[in-house]
Amino acid sequence: MKRGHRRIETQLAVIGTGIAGFAASIFALKRGLDVAQFGHSGAMAYTTGYLDLLGVHGQRIRQDPWAALDELRRDEPQHPMSKLSNPTIRTAFDGFTDALCDMGIGYTKAGEQNLSGLLPNGVAKPTLSVPKTMLPGIAAREAGARTLVLDFDGLQGFSAKAFEVNFAERWPALKSARLTFPDMENRQVFPEVLARSLENRATQEALAGLIRPLLNGAEYVGVPAILGMHAPDEIRARMEHAIGATLFEIPTIPPAVPGIRLRECFERAFPDMGVKLEPQLKVSNVEFGRSGATLFLHGPMEDLEIEASAVLLATGRFLSGGLKSDQHRLSEPLLDLPILQPDGRQEWFRHEYLDPRGHPINRLGIEVDSAFRPVMPDGDPVNERLFAAGAILAHQDWVRQRSGAGLAIATAYAATEAAAAMLA
Ligand SMILES: Cc1cc2nc3c(=O)[nH]c(=O)nc-3n(C[C@H](O)[C@H](O)[C@H](O)COP(=O)(O)OP(=O)(O)OC[C@H]3O[C@@H](n4cnc5c(N)ncnc54)[C@H](O)[C@@H]3O)c2cc1C
Repeated sequence: MKRGHRRIETQLAVIGTGIAGFAASIFALKRGLDVAQFGHSGAMAYTTGYLDLLGVHGQRIRQDPWAALDELRRDEPQHPMSKLSNPTIRTAFDGFTDALCDMGIGYTKAGEQNLSGLLPNGVAKPTLSVPKTMLPGIAAREAGARTLVLDFDGLQGFSAKAFEVNFAERWPALKSARLTFPDMENRQVFPEVLARSLENRATQEALAGLIRPLLNGAEYVGVPAILGMHAPDEIRARMEHAIGATLFEIPTIPPAVPGIRLRECFERAFPDMGVKLEPQLKVSNVEFGRSGATLFLHGPMEDLEIEASAVLLATGRFLSGGLKSDQHRLSEPLLDLPILQPDGRQEWFRHEYLDPRGHPINRLGIEVDSAFRPVMPDGDPVNERLFAAGAILAHQDWVRQRSGAGLAIATAYAATEAAAAMLA
């Protein structure tokens, strides 16, 4: 059968469907740009759903991310977020969380202080914005409130007992119990399957009916993140009413529902918002010309050729395929962008695995100028029409700094603003 061939023209081509890529498309739409976005699965399915800005700086856990950013600018001037002011980062963060709320997934607005987001293994971590379904759990822990946390027979990725035991000392009013999820007897179950099953009202009612008799005076009920895939806030409200106690979600280990939920939310909303989105296709080649770039993609049925006036690269790190390594060096596989790196891989890691300074390899990546354009070793932009954002950038260690989403959102905003200015 003859393969199809499709040609698309766009002002901005966003390469990558992680948080940076989706944020870039949102900001570009707000700027009135015509946007096309391409990518595949990546790190997003692994996220807790929390949006971190800066949770660790100076080897200290920070409750004050904005003050920590001021220190970051002083201590790490090459860090990508050091190129941006706090008001700019706040504008970006608010723009992203507002868009999520408009698309149907409630997120809290960034405050002055970090929140202590609950994690599946019964510890907490600093983060700036959380899904509204998870917020009551933070309040319950802070108040030491009477709380029942639940898991399910056969559930992989979350143990209510472990959660209870690890929090026991500081949260003695926390108790746990195990239920059999409706119609899921005698089998292994995964959070994604339970979330899809809770889209059904009858399942919501059946589960609420099982939880109610277990309350025993609990004011709060915590469940793993399974409250549906498409309208978690509505499902939470409905079940909370049926149970008679405040209900909240706790992230599970990856792959987890909150990231899949975000991805499906963008996939649902973007086409109506005007983004030409191909969420299952990777770009295989890019050629730059005088007035833009041509992107080449090969789908199962057809080939795509995209004519774009500007390109924003947000392809992530190793897990998502944005960076690669062999025995000798790191590379950026799509455009072969320069990566400033040591001569040999013996310099990639420190001797001690748990060295508090982290490993140098985690800070290698794409160097950009103040307009977030990838640069050559001499500092000149690789191409005036090429911009980059997110975890692929050099001079940051988002895992150690607890800054995954914040870095992605803030740099996507800055790169999109720069692209819009170039296209104006
Ligand atoms: C286990 C885990 C837990 C996390 N928890 C948190 C958390 O609690 N809080 C938080 O703030 N952040 C968290 N994150 C980080 C967050 O999910 C993102 O990794 C981070 O925000 C970086 O996003 P990104 O868009 O730059 O890259 P990624 O999310 O890695 O996305 C890169 C995208 O580029 C695509 N791509 C790669 N090559 C191509 C190509 N040639 N053509 C087209 N597309 C391509 C990939 O398919 C992918 O969609 C977590 C990540 C992991 C892995």
